[in-house]
Amino acid sequence: MSQQLDNHRRWDLETDLLVVGAGAAGMTAALVGGLEGLKTILCEKSDMVGGTTATSAGTVWIPGSRQSSAAGVPDTVEQVRTYLAAMLGQDANEERLDAYLATGPSVLDYLEQRTSVAFIPPPVHPDYHALPGAAVGGRALGAAPFDGRKLGRDFARVRPPRRDFLVLGGMMVGKNDIPSLLHPFRSWGNFTTAARLLMRQAFDRINHRRGTRLIMGNALVARLLYSLNQFAVEIRYRSPLRELIEDGGRIVGAVLGTTDGDISVRARKGVVLATGGVGWSGELRDRLFPEGTRRYSLSPESNTGDGIVAGERAQGGIEQDIRNPALWMPSSVMQQPDGQLSVFPHIVLDRAKPGLVAVNSSGRRFVNEADSYHDFVEVMLRSQATVPSVPSYLVCDRSFIRDYGLGLIHPRTRDLTRFIRSGYLISGDTVAELGNEIHVDGNALAETIERYNRFAVIGIDEDFGRGRSELNRFNGDPLNSPNPCMRVIGPGPYFAVAVWPSDLASSAGLRTDLNGRVLTSGRQPIPGLYAVGNDASSIFRGTYPGPGTMIGPAMVFAWRAAMDIAGTLDRYPSGTYNEISESVSRHARIKGPPC
Ligand SMILES: Cc1cc2nc3c(=O)[nH]c(=O)nc-3n(C[C@H](O)[C@H](O)[C@H](O)COP(=O)(O)OP(=O)(O)OC[C@H]3O[C@@H](n4cnc5c(N)ncnc54)[C@H](O)[C@@H]3O)c2cc1C
Repeated sequence: MSQQLDNHRRWDLETDLLVVGAGAAGMTAALVGGLEGLKTILCEKSDMVGGTTATSAGTVWIPGSRQSSAAGVPDTVEQVRTYLAAMLGQDANEERLDAYLATGPSVLDYLEQRTSVAFIPPPVHPDYHALPGAAVGGRALGAAPFDGRKLGRDFARVRPPRRDFLVLGGMMVGKNDIPSLLHPFRSWGNFTTAARLLMRQAFDRINHRRGTRLIMGNALVARLLYSLNQFAVEIRYRSPLRELIEDGGRIVGAVLGTTDGDISVRARKGVVLATGGVGWSGELRDRLFPEGTRRYSLSPESNTGDGIVAGERAQGGIEQDIRNPALWMPSSVMQQPDGQLSVFPHIVLDRAKPGLVAVNSSGRRFVNEADSYHDFVEVMLRSQATVPSVPSYLVCDRSFIRDYGLGLIHPRTRDLTRFIRSGYLISGDTVAELGNEIHVDGNALAETIERYNRFAVIGIDEDFGRGRSELNRFNGDPLNSPNPCMRVIGPGPYFAVAVWPSDLASSAGLRTDLNGRVLTSGRQPIPGLYAVGNDASSIFRGTYPGPGTMIGPAMVFAWRAAMDIAGTLDRYPSGTYNEISESVSRHARIKGPPC
């Protein structure tokens, strides 16, 4: 139960809207609340905004947008629906999914026209499944890069990216920057890009604690923070939600912790939970996640399931009828010399590149290594039912590490000693020796590599179809032929890293309606209580349609929730770009300060 309101309660603060948690979901809800005229407080447990969002790629999957249409990669509702139906079957008929598809484009326009949040649609960023209706580009949009210097002192309030993804003392590197940095003399374009990045970083090292050229999730969070500051939305740091306060079945406020003790905040119109889902909550992980997946989360340490627990105490139900309680990522793990545990997500930089195989304890391949991270782990868990597959091993030769890197080891790393000494990287001069080190049958491993090599020569993976899909090829090496995802694994020494299932987001969460209102297990809305982002159950029901299918819904439902609380939802058009472009252009636009 939540705390009951009693007649003697003294409110320390009063507001219209209280938003709990400052990731993509909470920051969007607070920003929209402020813009829609609500007195809004955004409370954050840590001393930084950003949560998992700040360490993510910051992609949003919002089909049918004006931005994609303008960039020459239009999409149609029919195609999206075909794709989702092929993936989700009957579940594709959910009303929240309809609301998402109908509102998404308006949310992008609203944010771009009224705030400093901006997106760029890359022409190619494929959906994750080669199913009917899948798109090669146009659905996923990336956050536009942002200059952190514009935030002034608040730059320090943006949660930094994962340190394993930073180079040269704090420079962010995007997928598109890598070829220029690795091969600056291959073309004039590469040279100028590399020179620009390195000069900027040289200046940043003198003046800032880390690089100020923000990209991906860090850019999205910085843009949201910049906009919140522009509209003077109050952010209270180090103010964790302790408990919700209820009065006659309605949530009317919350108790927040502060450095001076707990305070009671009255929220006249609503409380939005956006604390980032299950995160590191041992209790929720044990209750909701399957065996073998509970050990590692990619959430920041401050995500401990608080929103879901508070929602449950207020009688909210958890959606359990979903395909996966989380979205999975194969991660390798290294104990750093300073005691920190690096959990490295193998997103796109190595698995799909040519010259690597993933094997389980039988020494055999079990998966198309180049498929999406979520699919990789799903297959790993299925394989575990018959052959121990947790952990599995990514196996390659020395030239692979030189060209593409392996997990925490960056390409071109000459000295591998510290990785080998720590036990992160396992090596063997021969395949048999490596097999021995990772406790798999050396003969089986040798057969696996020989078979893979035969497929690499002809460019066809007869076992798993590696390199066949758009997604595989997108993440492979375009300069490698005949198959961008396969090349012969050469002579020793050989190397391996262990990969474990980890979660990049939870998809089990509080059951909500199409405006983010939390529902009881009997599907009744709880007045005054909303949940968005990972605190709400996934509209894709634990499947992973494409890049950006967590932050997209997080922002769209945050927008819908804030609008619902402000009572302004029906002022905004719904539909795809084509359907709404007319009404949008008629709609009064208030431009935010340029950024
Ligand atoms: C490496 C990586 C890459 C990813 N890339 C993408 C991508 O490109 N696109 C995509 O869609 N998804 C991506 N994801 C998943 C995505 O990042 C998350 O699903 C999403 O950011 C969650 O947003 P959120 O707002 O719900 O939570 P978060 O961003 O995690 O924010 C939650 C916030 O709540 C705060 N908080 C926690 N408890 C309390 C409390 N009691 N009181 C107050 N505040 C509290 C936390 O400190 C945190 O700041 C990626 C994930 C990872 C790990």
